[in-house]
Amino acid sequence: MRETTRLTSATLNKPRSRRAVNVPVERGSTVLFESAEALYDDDIKPTYGTDGLGTQAELCRMIADLEGAQEAFVLPTGLAALTLPIFAVLKAGDHVLAVNSAYAPVRRFFNTQLKRFGIEVTWYPASLNADDVLALAKDNTRLIYLESPGSLTFDIQDVPSIARAAKARGILTLCDNTYGAGVLFKPLAHGVDMSMQALTKYVGGHSDVLIGSVSVSDPALGKAIYEAIKAWGFFTSADESYLAIRGLRTLHLRLRQSGDSGLKVARWLESRPEVLRVVHPGLESHPGHTQFAKDFTGSNGLFLVVLKGEGEKNSQAFLEQLQLFGMGFSWGGFESLAINCEPQFLSRNKITPEDHAPLEGAYVRLYIGLEDPDDLIADLTQALETIGK
Ligand SMILES: *Cc1c(COP(=O)(O)O)cnc(C)c1O
Repeated sequence: MRETTRLTSATLNKPRSRRAVNVPVERGSTVLFESAEALYDDDIKPTYGTDGLGTQAELCRMIADLEGAQEAFVLPTGLAALTLPIFAVLKAGDHVLAVNSAYAPVRRFFNTQLKRFGIEVTWYPASLNADDVLALAKDNTRLIYLESPGSLTFDIQDVPSIARAAKARGILTLCDNTYGAGVLFKPLAHGVDMSMQALTKYVGGHSDVLIGSVSVSDPALGKAIYEAIKAWGFFTSADESYLAIRGLRTLHLRLRQSGDSGLKVARWLESRPEVLRVVHPGLESHPGHTQFAKDFTGSNGLFLVVLKGEGEKNSQAFLEQLQLFGMGFSWGGFESLAINCEPQFLSRNKITPEDHAPLEGAYVRLYIGLEDPDDLIADLTQALETIGK
């Protein structure tokens, strides 16, 4: 054989002699078949790299297991794992009920893209009970979009009751389960049809991966999502999938540590004179705490603190005083983060002004990572004392 042939065919038929502990990163566009007949056999998958190869398949299997689902699919971002299933199940003329505490980019998707495709959305306040949500349903309502707790407002919804009522009306439900990370809450076990996660957050866990998943148990939904992924050409890389699998190995440990530290810091903040209130669903003071305690096995490390004083200027000064908290969006990594929330709350108010009183105080969202909580408390103390001067 010529050199070019030797180089290109060297590994094609090499048997696997050893196996590493971890799933290998299997990259590939082309998939080779054993017979000509197999090329067009619909039962054989993957036929091409866009189907995802061994690494993605293993991640899907692990996520399905975590979510208690029959099937899970991976997508290139968390946001794609929300938009794709919505496109997969809706058509022009359909109507969606969506909770107005939803992750902000989802609101942009509904209000721009879906609108162009002739799909109408009604935003409802997270405080509505199941009957009141369903009272907003129309003949063409096909989907209810849920997120609980809201990742900015921490509003709690009665997801099980809404899912049950929706099912009785033949309306599908899709729940953003990023807060629960597949561990703290199991939407499918509570009757939700599709559970989505930004694996970017706690599953990735190290702020270096963008990836999402959607999990279902109804084979017809699974088929619709698979078809949409194929048709739209979404592909999730083996490297990102590998990192998500790696994150899954330590997910429980990191989530528990972050959640415990988060509660400790939140309780401490509640006792501080500079603090107006702490909005954390794991605290007894949260209006949705009873529902949260019923549905969730614990809280994660994300919550909102409202400081006394004049709005955005105050929260910005506070953020800039912090030494151990990075200023950045996202959460779920090993590092603690903080953002001020006024611009997001005010843009939300433009969509559903009736639901939102004017902001009082300075709004800061904290994410508590894996640092020692006492060091974080010391950092928060110096920041509170400095801006109080
Ligand atoms: C981050 C996030 C997403 C989107 O995930 P990306 O991977 O950043 O696209 C969706 N929902 C929630 C609640 C999130 O926090």
